[in-house]
Amino acid sequence: MSKVTEIFASNVFNDDVMRQRLPEEVYKGLQWTAKHGHHLDISIANAVATAMKEWAMEKGATHFTHWFQPMTGITAEKHDSFISPAGDGRIIMEFSGKELIKGESDASSFPNGGLRATFEARGYTAWDPTSYAFIKDDVLCIPTAFCSYGGQALDKKTPLLRSMEAINRQAMRVLKLFGSDAEKINTTVGPEQEYFLIPKELFDKRKDLIYTGRTLFGAMPSKGQELDDHYFGSIKPAVHAFMKDLDVELWKLGVLAKTEHNEGAPAQHELAPVFTTTNIAADHNQLTMEMMQKIAREHGLECLLHEKPFEGVSGSGKHNNWSLCTDKGVNLLDPGKTPSENAQFLLFLCAVIKAVHEYQELLRISIASAGNDHRLGGGEAPPAIVSMFLGDELSGILDAIENGNTYDQKEKEQLKIGVHVLPRFPKDTTDRNRTSPFAFTGNKFEFRMLGASASVSEVNVVINTAVAESLKQFADRLENAEDFETELNELIRETISKHKNIIFNGNGYDDAWIAEAEKRGLKNLKTTPDALKHYVTDKNVELFVSHKVYSREEMESRLEIMLDNYNKLINIEARTMINMASKDILPAVSEYSKKLADTAISKRTFSKDIPVIYEEENLVKISTLAQSAYETLKKLRVAVEDVKAIKENGLRADFCKNTVLPLMKDLRKDVDELETVVSSDMWPYPSIGELLFGVR
Ligand code: ADP
Ligand code: MG
Repeated sequence: MSKVTEIFASNVFNDDVMRQRLPEEVYKGLQWTAKHGHHLDISIANAVATAMKEWAMEKGATHFTHWFQPMTGITAEKHDSFISPAGDGRIIMEFSGKELIKGESDASSFPNGGLRATFEARGYTAWDPTSYAFIKDDVLCIPTAFCSYGGQALDKKTPLLRSMEAINRQAMRVLKLFGSDAEKINTTVGPEQEYFLIPKELFDKRKDLIYTGRTLFGAMPSKGQELDDHYFGSIKPAVHAFMKDLDVELWKLGVLAKTEHNEGAPAQHELAPVFTTTNIAADHNQLTMEMMQKIAREHGLECLLHEKPFEGVSGSGKHNNWSLCTDKGVNLLDPGKTPSENAQFLLFLCAVIKAVHEYQELLRISIASAGNDHRLGGGEAPPAIVSMFLGDELSGILDAIENGNTYDQKEKEQLKIGVHVLPRFPKDTTDRNRTSPFAFTGNKFEFRMLGASASVSEVNVVINTAVAESLKQFADRLENAEDFETELNELIRETISKHKNIIFNGNGYDDAWIAEAEKRGLKNLKTTPDALKHYVTDKNVELFVSHKVYSREEMESRLEIMLDNYNKLINIEARTMINMASKDILPAVSEYSKKLADTAISKRTFSKDIPVIYEEENLVKISTLAQSAYETLKKLRVAVEDVKAIKENGLRADFCKNTVLPLMKDLRKDVDELETVVSSDMWPYPSIGELLFGVR
């Protein structure tokens, strides 16, 4: 391997490359545009496009694409080659500024939740100059936002960029009051990505994995994760080779892949990058997921990104580590060293506490999906109730502030503004609580409810906008205060008092917490359909509209898309189960029954003194289970037909949740029990034990 420093970002048209290759005034113009979020001048765009094309061609690229993130959850590309006829039967390689900054795309090919009906079918993609272009598979990829011709967001990136602007606007107002020299703030994200690796040849034998990404049947193996012997255990050679290749490919793309280790469950692993600006982190996480799947295949493996690929085994999440950082490099969630930094830190901390408390439903919705419903509250992932962990020390400080007490006898010093000086607490004492959905981890928050396959965009849209709203209210009050210090003190005290109900430092897996949370008035929205009912409410519309993140129409279209995704997914799962049970499992069971019956008969024929108890008892058990499975299968078939008659997506989702999913569960129960008694030679699919441990 050549030096990592040479490999890193070798396929990225980054600042370094631009500085080297662009004429100085073009480079400066581009920087200015990116910083101020203005439209790019066409003469600058032309110069950038030419330099980009030259650079890309030197690296072997022949095509370019606008690379975007439609509401499908994966990225989309449409490749165009650089070729252009030169008139004499020959071609030249061309790439114009116009092609760089704007592309046309058929919006009707992507989920649009009804937005298209009221506007034109065409959509367009627009370059996001804050995210660098890169080369992947000989294609120059230009990160873009995807909108309808009316300007409505049809993707995950547009609202993310808007939410970053919103929080920047409000945070800057607050920072000014503290006399900060910052000119801009960015939110930063470091997403820890969990995933499973299983042998590809076994993956290929399971229709459920192929169609749905998770196992719909499968009895628990004799060993699960009870021994906790996988986490940080030694990494197997095949997995190690995969991780090594993955790192190199990600580094080439400028992704800061940093930490790779095994996770809690067998065959489960994690990759964490070094955090970066949110929109880039979102782009990079999409690339990471794509590369994981691609490189796994090259290693004869299949990478499962589903939230819950195996029942009874921990699912995979994506921890969204989040903070705010000024352009001067100051992390606003770092308690800091001096008293004034403490006060500013406490105010930003309060902004997050208030945001999470007031918009808990939106946070829950931002991670809602059919797959994640299987994971949340499963005693492995956070429960579906949103709460915050601050740790005993920080909670103690907030308590003291609320009650006007001195926090610690040793820390008698108080600020002039009355806010207590925070003791310097070592980062590691703040958190090893793994059950909290939203945990303060020393200088950032970690939101842990997100499922492994999801884009990080939506959660950050919600966090950014909700925190922007807190900061807006704070700024409104502080800017008009007669005495800044008195008002600040009162504001912090009031916020703690009003929103402390969201803080919970105990065990989130405990049933007692569910009861306690209810008493505190926290929402427990167990499933996606339950959660989505709380999306387009006046309060949420007001939030997003006032911060210019979503219009009401955009929210309504997103709701339609989320419901539609949920319904389609459950339908595919149900149909896959029907297919597997009717065509493979029940026939195999029937055949095995015949074998048992034949054996019993031949034993009897041979001599009636030979016991046939094993054959008889199993025959009864298997036939009873098969009959029960068959009855459920018939009901499931009817349910899948009934769904079609329900036109409204919300009602459809309720029907899927209340009728289809319970039938799927019943069918699985019988089939999984059958798997434990039918000969493994005759079972039509590799077992979960085989997938995870390589044993049948
Ligand atoms: P753990 O597994 O204990 O949660 P990791 O080191 O695996 O910790 O992951 C922590 C993640 O948080 C990393 O991706 C890291 O880059 C990210 N992170 C650290 N500081 C910040 C910050 N200020 N803003 C956003 N993310 C951060
Ligand atoms: Mg973590």
